Amino acid sequence: MKFGGTSVADAAAMTRVVDIVRSQWKSQAEGTRPPVVVVSALSKVTDGLIRTIDFARAGDAEKAAALVTELLERHIAISRTLTTHQRTEDLVKALRAQFEALAQLVATLAARKSVTPADHDEIVAMGELASSRIVCAAFQEQHLPAVWVDARDVLLTDAEHMVAAPNMDATCRQAAKILAPITARHEIPVLGGFIASTPTGEGDGRRTTTLGRGGSDYSAAIFGACLDVGEIQIWTDVDGMLTADPRVVAAPRVVPHLSFAEASELAYFGAKVLHPATILPAVSKNIPVRILNSRQPSNPGTLITSESRRDRHLAALACKRDVTVIDITSTRMFMAHGFLLRLFEVFERFKTAVDVVTTSEVSVSVTVDDTRKLDEIVAALRVFADVTCESKMAIVSVVGDRLHDDPSVFAQAVVAINGIPLRLVSQASSRRTFTFVLRDAEVPNAMARLHNALFSS
Ligand code: ADP
Ligand code: ASP
Ligand code: MG
Repeated sequence: MKFGGTSVADAAAMTRVVDIVRSQWKSQAEGTRPPVVVVSALSKVTDGLIRTIDFARAGDAEKAAALVTELLERHIAISRTLTTHQRTEDLVKALRAQFEALAQLVATLAARKSVTPADHDEIVAMGELASSRIVCAAFQEQHLPAVWVDARDVLLTDAEHMVAAPNMDATCRQAAKILAPITARHEIPVLGGFIASTPTGEGDGRRTTTLGRGGSDYSAAIFGACLDVGEIQIWTDVDGMLTADPRVVAAPRVVPHLSFAEASELAYFGAKVLHPATILPAVSKNIPVRILNSRQPSNPGTLITSESRRDRHLAALACKRDVTVIDITSTRMFMAHGFLLRLFEVFERFKTAVDVVTTSEVSVSVTVDDTRKLDEIVAALRVFADVTCESKMAIVSVVGDRLHDDPSVFAQAVVAINGIPLRLVSQASSRRTFTFVLRDAEVPNAMARLHNALFSS
């Protein structure tokens, strides 16, 4: 069971989490194992920790320290509401020690005016370390047999800080060693999502890593796959996967069922409710994933399984905002053989993922979301091609396993957005997605029209 930032935002939200976990704990059949609970940092805490990093990088030690104190106070206030007596004392002591270490690290970095990706991970990990301690203490206060586990002892990754990739074999060995004995005793392990570490004894010793923003969903799926659980539950602040991003389209509906492939595609193309890698571990063990609302726990949510629905063509829309289109034109008259290889080798070298690709006789257009290395990429491409970039674009996708069984769907989609300039269009008849790249400013209009045309009945 994974609870996101808004599900543990404050004492009231955490009390709902206690009730949800208790009810699953109680309804557990004889012989089944208790849930493993994975939590995100309290809502907005990761953003706050990233701001302290920005202050440290700018050498503003005072603002960084003030923010660390503010974050500590928020955690202490929640702890005092949820626990009593000795438990509060112990919890507050642990939080103070943790934030003291954070304050020292931030002060050192502010003096140095530099923050490495490893420092970044050390700092942001504080959010999940703190929230998981509080949730665990809140469970114990309410007589649930919870055991706090440092997620960094279980989830082992490579050393690619901020976007670390799990080592599944090593992680599953740790899960068997650390988590399985706890559940075998009918106790509930509570651990932070998103955070991990490199294995002990590698390079300069164990270092804290993180899985990338929104990575707690991924952590939960990794632990679930290692322990071969019956179901991976993602508890969040909406009723499930909706037919469109509710921040963009008014009144989207819940999608009751999705296939693994549809859910992956939607997550990849911007449906923030699921981290894009979440489905991978679930597929490996064929474990159903359920998205549920922690404010409305009795709602059915969205169930994601290996099965594909035969009764509908469309699953949902997704949008990925603020991407950059790069147009790359061969400086020869036509695309010489080897051009594509050279072109993609540049993206590979700068570890930048490409989302949408279209080609014509002499040019290739791609979209990228991560522009940290854009200048270097453009310079490397200009060695053999003319290159232009356009920022503030967006990818709008229509997703459904059976999309292509009804050829009129594509026509309906194109008619719905008639008049909106389309920068790129991509669709393959065997695939489950149509993709339109257009100006970011057009997203609300395009999404509303597509949703109205494709999902209104
Ligand atoms: P959590 O903190 O629980 O991980 P997130 O903020 O990461 O929650 O994800 C939930 C949010 O994802 C929702 O509040 C919603 O705004 C956004 N979202 C975007 N697209 C979708 C979609 N298709 N269905 C549901 N939610 C979506
Ligand atoms: N706390 C992390 C983030 O905000 C991970 C997560 O919430 O899934 O990105
Ligand atoms: Mg999330």
